[in-house]
Amino acid sequence: MTTIRRRLTLWYTVALAVTVLAFGTALYLERRQSGIKELDHRISLEADLAHRWLGESYKVLGRIVTSSGASAALDPGISAYLESVRDYLIVADTTGQVLALSEVTRALPADALERLAAPLARPDLRRHIGTLPLGPPSGDVRFLAIPVQDAGPTIRGLLVATPTAQAAFGPADLLRSMLLIAPIILVGAGLVGYWLADTSLRPVQTIMDEVEAISDGRSLHRRLAVPLSGDEMARLALTVNGMLARLEQSFGSLHRFTADASHELKTPLMVLRAGVERALVHPGTPPEILQSLDETLAQINQMTEMVESLLTLARADEGRAPLAVEECDLRELVADVAETAGMLGEGVGVTEVHSVPQTAVRLAVDRGRIREMLLNMVTNAIKYTPQGGSVSLSLEQDDESVTLTVRDSGIGIAPGDLPHIFERFWRADPARSRTGDRPGVGLGLAITKWIAEAHGGSITVQSRPGRGSVFTVRLPKAPVSVS
Ligand code: ADP
Repeated sequence: MTTIRRRLTLWYTVALAVTVLAFGTALYLERRQSGIKELDHRISLEADLAHRWLGESYKVLGRIVTSSGASAALDPGISAYLESVRDYLIVADTTGQVLALSEVTRALPADALERLAAPLARPDLRRHIGTLPLGPPSGDVRFLAIPVQDAGPTIRGLLVATPTAQAAFGPADLLRSMLLIAPIILVGAGLVGYWLADTSLRPVQTIMDEVEAISDGRSLHRRLAVPLSGDEMARLALTVNGMLARLEQSFGSLHRFTADASHELKTPLMVLRAGVERALVHPGTPPEILQSLDETLAQINQMTEMVESLLTLARADEGRAPLAVEECDLRELVADVAETAGMLGEGVGVTEVHSVPQTAVRLAVDRGRIREMLLNMVTNAIKYTPQGGSVSLSLEQDDESVTLTVRDSGIGIAPGDLPHIFERFWRADPARSRTGDRPGVGLGLAITKWIAEAHGGSITVQSRPGRGSVFTVRLPKAPVSVS
């Protein structure tokens, strides 16, 4: 989820960055072009004015170039006007020598002035516009050189120039502004993109949360709220609802079948057991028949147990296994189970110890189920502990919860098996005989887990092969809603 949101934000920002970059480049190029056009227009106006001024003056005065010694110059009255031109202006004679300069031109360094006057030195001077690098402080200049023919034979032409940096809001300014604005736009775009992605993905998040809450297996009757928008989210919700309905139906039939089958099996099993028990006490039965009857009875007992367990689990799945909750002192329950455990342990050479707090541990529970849960754990502990080992059962409490711990010094559970032990019909060694030295069907821990969770609690296990196992059930003290 987070990834999609991040990816959308990233792509949105990248797309916007590319757009801003393309737009900026186009704007920059266009601005540079029109800035130069404006400059060209300006210098061309100035050049034409100066040209006309020289022509008119020549027409009126006849002679406008005065020569004193080797150097020639424009008549001071005429050059006074040219000096006041605000851009660079050079008037040159036919030898390429400078006759007049505007005031700003005079301020130029000698080498820059030489470079600027160079276009006027060409004998075949024609109207010519271009860019010249003058170096600091002027930088690049845009210039226009024009021939002047109507101002007497001495004057060859004039040149007007102006730094390109003078262009109104020049490209450099534009670039600077864009570089300043671009990060702000991008950060803004990133935030807007994140918000957009978040808003459009929120319905998906809601659907995911709801599906997660439903998919615990016991809430399949619930359905997702279908948005009224009729968009893709509504279709998704409808599709998931359809799937939930089908799942509920299949789960329902499966649970019903298991419950019905277990229930139907109970009576014939009872009849079978009664028959075998009667046959066992019948006088005069040969010993070999007695032995096989014994084995049959063991199998029948095993099967009855399995059918009982299956029925419990099937009812729990269907939500038809209500707890008969009443407040009781758990110490009594523990002592009761410990007594049974003591007797079981004695038979197989396993010692049993238990510990309970001094003060009463009162909790509202289903006594029968909690007893069943504890018995499951201690019988397992005894079953999987070799002769000479020990099993301990302890009860503790704190402000929030009650903890029941069953510890054994038995064979332990391999780390790879730990995640599976609460699964139905799972046994560490399936090859082991169901009636052999460690009989069982692999349903005890599944029921134990259900009982712990039905009381709002949890069960955890720690174990090391050869070192024993510790099963811990934690039950909350706060009243829980019971399924
Ligand atoms: P089972 O009827 O086989 O005892 P459970 O559901 O009670 O079925 O236990 C599942 C499996 O978990 C057992 O087959 C056994 O491999 C393992 N197991 C349970 N408790 C212990 C224990 N105290 N020590 C070692 N293994 C255990």
